Amino acid sequence: MLADVLRRRYGELAYARNITDIDDKINNAARERGVPISEITGRFTAAYLDDMAALGVKPQNIQPEATAHVPQIIAMIQRLIDAGHAYEAEGHVLFAVGTFAGYGKLSRRDPEELLAGARIDVAPYKRDAGDFVLWKPSTDDLPGWDSPWGRGRPGWHIECSAMAAAHLGETIDIHAGGVDLQFPHHENEIAQSECAHGGKIFARYWLHNGMLNFGGAKMAKSVGNIQRVHDLVKQYPPEALRFALLSAHYRQPLEWSDGLIEQSVRTLDRLYGTLRDLADVEADAAIPASVEASLDDDLNTPQVMAEIARIAGDARKAESASDKARLKSELLGAGLALGLLQQEPAAWFARGANIQDAQLENLIQQRAEAKQARDFARADAIRDQLAAFGVTLKDTPTKVVVQSSGIISVGYDAQSKILEIEFESGAVYKYFDVSPDLHAGLINAASKGAYFADHLRWAFDYEMVRSSR
Ligand SMILES: [Zn+2]
Repeated sequence: MLADVLRRRYGELAYARNITDIDDKINNAARERGVPISEITGRFTAAYLDDMAALGVKPQNIQPEATAHVPQIIAMIQRLIDAGHAYEAEGHVLFAVGTFAGYGKLSRRDPEELLAGARIDVAPYKRDAGDFVLWKPSTDDLPGWDSPWGRGRPGWHIECSAMAAAHLGETIDIHAGGVDLQFPHHENEIAQSECAHGGKIFARYWLHNGMLNFGGAKMAKSVGNIQRVHDLVKQYPPEALRFALLSAHYRQPLEWSDGLIEQSVRTLDRLYGTLRDLADVEADAAIPASVEASLDDDLNTPQVMAEIARIAGDARKAESASDKARLKSELLGAGLALGLLQQEPAAWFARGANIQDAQLENLIQQRAEAKQARDFARADAIRDQLAAFGVTLKDTPTKVVVQSSGIISVGYDAQSKILEIEFESGAVYKYFDVSPDLHAGLINAASKGAYFADHLRWAFDYEMVRSSR
């Protein structure tokens, strides 16, 4: 989203995301499996890019890999040694934190404290406990490169500094990342880059995004509560995940829950419903000035979402053709600014494949029970929940009718009088006791363009039963 804003403001953009593919966790995984590290990093890079694409994150145009920049990394370390900011000790090269007065300026930490470090397991070759590794020796079974300090590999921090300098120059405009990387990673990047480049500023602006919280705890591998985009997109429409992520300001922590995602699905249902109602209105997306102003205000996405809600509300009330066209154009434009609302409404509503058959069956059953117990509030809540998946339940006096977004195939067995309909959502419904005449009439109506499910509903009062597929 930020890349889009910058492109609209300044035209061309050098947008880099690097792959730090020299990493001890990767090395360990590769060693355990007996494969080269490229096999591990290749797989994770591809999965990462897939996940980003699913969330509508446009690709970067520069994607350097640390393994392709070892000469630049070694050169930068040598420069730091020559300038007195780094020292060699027992096959390691360490950055001497005490030589950089600006250390701690990004995370606003006390340099004295940083110098003292964590005081646990301090390697004996370190001058100060806070000094960090630029180069470390590799044993024969680990990836390694020849260097003036022996065969070894770079530390994580220096990979970023060297790649940034190689592709973006000594000073970059904007550096972004998770707030968990602010210290020590970004602090170390600043120290290395500014000391290697004669004090030239490393990054003019830093954008740190807040963490996702899950059930009150930070979502982190160490806590074991990681939810992977890869799994979530099978459960929910990816656009709803994007909506949920943008619903809080990027600097704030976001309380991540199924409820938040489901609420995002419902909001998108309403917005796409408005666009569907305006399907006949000709309009091109135009980003409203108010939306651009909110984005210029440190990417205030919650304010843009409030603006989207207002525009959609106005659009629903609009009567004149010109108002409708203007508001549709604004709604599409405001959505475009956030990477939302760019699907055809029908495509959004046809997403029912995200609900599992068993889940659907279970919900319908629960609703029937709630109705039996005269718990109408619960019955309505379940109906709304189903609506969020594009499944509409309508009650006739005695029967429940399911309408779904589209039909893929209709099968009829004259012998058993069972009509089977497969919906786009992946659901398969069986209708019993359908006479051959009625079936023929339905096919005839459908061939003339009638919506089969609507017609079916109109044609007879029927029992709907979930098939076992
Ligand atoms: Zn980095």
